[in-house]
Amino acid sequence: MYDVIVVGARCAGSPLAMLLAKQGAKVLLVDRATLPSDIPHGNFIHRDGPRRLKKWGLLDNVAEVSVPITSQISYFGDFPMPADDLCVDGMAWGYAPRRDLLDYILVQAAVRAGAEVREGFSVESFVIEDGRVAGIRGHGRDGKAVEEQAALTVGADGRNSRLARAVDAPVYDATPPMLCYYFSYWSGVDTGPCLELHARPRDRRLIISFPSSNGLYGVFVGWPAGELAQVRGNIESNFMTALDLVPELAERVRAGHREERFYGASDLPNFFRKPYGPGWALAGDAGCHKDPFMALGICDAFRDVELLAGAIAEGATTERPMEECLAGYERNRNEASGMNYQMNASAARFDPYPEEILLLRRAIRDKPDERRNFALARGGMVDPTTFFNPENMRRLIGPEVGSPT
Ligand SMILES: Cc1cc2nc3c(=O)[nH]c(=O)nc-3n(C[C@H](O)[C@H](O)[C@H](O)COP(=O)(O)OP(=O)(O)OC[C@H]3O[C@@H](n4cnc5c(N)ncnc54)[C@H](O)[C@@H]3O)c2cc1C
Repeated sequence: MYDVIVVGARCAGSPLAMLLAKQGAKVLLVDRATLPSDIPHGNFIHRDGPRRLKKWGLLDNVAEVSVPITSQISYFGDFPMPADDLCVDGMAWGYAPRRDLLDYILVQAAVRAGAEVREGFSVESFVIEDGRVAGIRGHGRDGKAVEEQAALTVGADGRNSRLARAVDAPVYDATPPMLCYYFSYWSGVDTGPCLELHARPRDRRLIISFPSSNGLYGVFVGWPAGELAQVRGNIESNFMTALDLVPELAERVRAGHREERFYGASDLPNFFRKPYGPGWALAGDAGCHKDPFMALGICDAFRDVELLAGAIAEGATTERPMEECLAGYERNRNEASGMNYQMNASAARFDPYPEEILLLRRAIRDKPDERRNFALARGGMVDPTTFFNPENMRRLIGPEVGSPT
């Protein structure tokens, strides 16, 4: 009998298992995959992600396998705006380790913390007793049926979570898929430690590129989901046509060599799920999934597993009923996600950027320090209100403007 079984051992499940084991819980972490292994998802970590990795003692491991990214070029349908020197407290703005490397660092940390890990273990169903989830049923590589019991079973098993489906977790604030993506990795691309984000609302294209692990350069293109069939017709040609919207980037990518196939991602809905119930909880994409436009999935997963681990510790060590503690987890998760979740959905719909933001960008176009402050505040590396406050906005743009974020 375990205190907690966690299903899914990637960027939500592994750090959750690590945190719970450090709290003294008896934890079983299972994944049908074996690690290290890649998944065709993106891999840029920013916002509070690097800070959490540092707190968990894992940032050095991540920095060993990925270039610290300290610059950005952002295009919001206006002009390419650079921002440099994006480093705070010795931490770069972002890191982009490939997922096989990142997820392996995370699962190893769970093992070191004392979690029992079973890779190659598929969960097929859940033990339900008196209306409570009481464990898992599945099989390892030998195919032998196994049942394990736990006080709490957590689904960190991705957006199509089997646990969420089994308990019929209520969905809210949902929006159907908006974009589909293709991406790959190139060698020999001339680049500094810089992420480029070219959001092109008028062309209805998104292009994101950044240096990743093993000297490779990742390039992602997003199209409206309705164009998937047409894009699939000739992926390479459609990819390069989209890239040609940014000729200088296209030229540098063409000078390199594509080292991997094109990976595709579609059916990317946006939703919150109620992340708890009797004997169960959800973390990471299983609990809240969003389009990858703003690359929020990994840093949000890190944040949410801290919130969940805190709630589980409270439920285990105080008089407060576990479900009340888990209700607090849901509130805190939603409060922390709210604004970015909406901004991400709006960006993925290719809504025009708010006029105040475009005005502000024009006002700071020739001011490198302010461009840096803008990027740090928008990226959550400093308190956004230190930059986006009415006084500073009046100073930068003029008297009649509010406080865009
Ligand atoms: C194209 C694309 C680009 C993205 N780019 C970025 C980015 O740059 N930055 C960012 O932060 N986020 C990005 N994301 C989102 C990010 O990849 C996800 O948010 C993140 O992977 C969620 O982690 P997770 O641990 O919740 O789930 P997952 O990474 O999906 O892991 C779930 C795990 O559960 C296991 N599992 C599932 N079912 C079972 C079962 N029945 N039995 C056993 N094991 C099971 C799976 O094998 C898997 O290993 C991107 C996503 C896509 C699709």
